[in-house]
Amino acid sequence: AARAGALIADPEFVQFHPTAIAGPRDPAPLVTEALRGEGAILVNKAGQRFMAAIHADAELAPRDIVARAIFREIAAGRGAFLDARPALGDRFASAFPTVYENCMALGIDPARQAIPVAPAAHYHMGGIHVDARGRSSVEGLWACGEVASTGMHGANRLASNSLLEAIVFGARIAADIDGAVPEGRAASHIAPPVLGSAAATDAPFVSQLRQIMTAHVGVEREGEGLAHALTEIARLERAAGPANLFGNIATTAKLIAASAFAREESRGGHYRTDFAEPRAAFRHRTFVTLKEAERIAEAAIENAHAPQNEAQASA
Ligand SMILES: Cc1cc2nc3c(=O)[nH]c(=O)nc-3n(C[C@H](O)[C@H](O)[C@H](O)COP(=O)(O)OP(=O)(O)OC[C@H]3O[C@@H](n4cnc5c(N)ncnc54)[C@H](O)[C@@H]3O)c2cc1C
Repeated sequence: AARAGALIADPEFVQFHPTAIAGPRDPAPLVTEALRGEGAILVNKAGQRFMAAIHADAELAPRDIVARAIFREIAAGRGAFLDARPALGDRFASAFPTVYENCMALGIDPARQAIPVAPAAHYHMGGIHVDARGRSSVEGLWACGEVASTGMHGANRLASNSLLEAIVFGARIAADIDGAVPEGRAASHIAPPVLGSAAATDAPFVSQLRQIMTAHVGVEREGEGLAHALTEIARLERAAGPANLFGNIATTAKLIAASAFAREESRGGHYRTDFAEPRAAFRHRTFVTLKEAERIAEAAIENAHAPQNEAQASA
């Protein structure tokens, strides 16, 4: 859609789930937030409860605040653990059987041990901009589900709203499409790459991109890191070539990183350490085309490699 010129909305807004089980499984299984609702607490490896000092609602603070607090404990080397022993103890297996099974499969008994946790990418609030009928800005292209940005989620998202959105917009789009697709005009200018066969050759590029996105375009971001990420995304795109699945992933990464670079404030799921507060000038949604995102990326890369900045970096 982005390559066909569709308007993309709010790509910088990505929600991180605060508590995935930190371990070797990919994707990491989630530890439901209902556990914190039941009284499980977050502690570091010294056993210190850290959320109470950060937010009045402690463990029940909004997702982005809890995700950042956990991210910082881990970054500081203190680790983060969800301790359900006092709240649940032996009731754990019967009250939360799926989490229990996932923990046990990783060798963690949550009735006896605190669960090591880390934030995980969970939901993309941004996506293809659609109207109330699910129509994108490209004629003949509707978008529904996580790939769309209806505006329903704002800068953050409440749990389970995506199910509601899929049901409501799925029905609206079906009704709107009914008889509306012009003969022979079925979006022929959009050529999605073939999936599957390209996956194995993509793997090393995907792995590098994940590291870059986690380090610089994740829970916390700042200008220099975002410019570095944009440089690396461009390098990987050149190395991988355009005609594969990685091309789609890199395009999405570029839209997220460029819009995160341009939004010099913090709001909802988007947090900039160099602009830690919301700013009035940015009190609006982002609407961007791929071409505009590429211009933002090129300017950021050029500026990052300007002689005075390189001198500053080496100093
Ligand atoms: C761990 C986890 C727990 C969640 N829990 C909840 C919850 O409790 N409640 C809730 O409401 N939401 C929840 N969400 C969010 C919700 O699950 C997702 O938003 C939703 O499943 C997205 O559905 P979708 O059909 O839009 O996209 P997807 O399920 O991602 O489907 C997109 C499909 O398109 C395919 N595809 C991609 N590119 C191409 C291409 N180029 N050509 C052809 N096919 C392509 C993909 O392979 C995939 O099958 C959760 C998300 C996660 C990660």
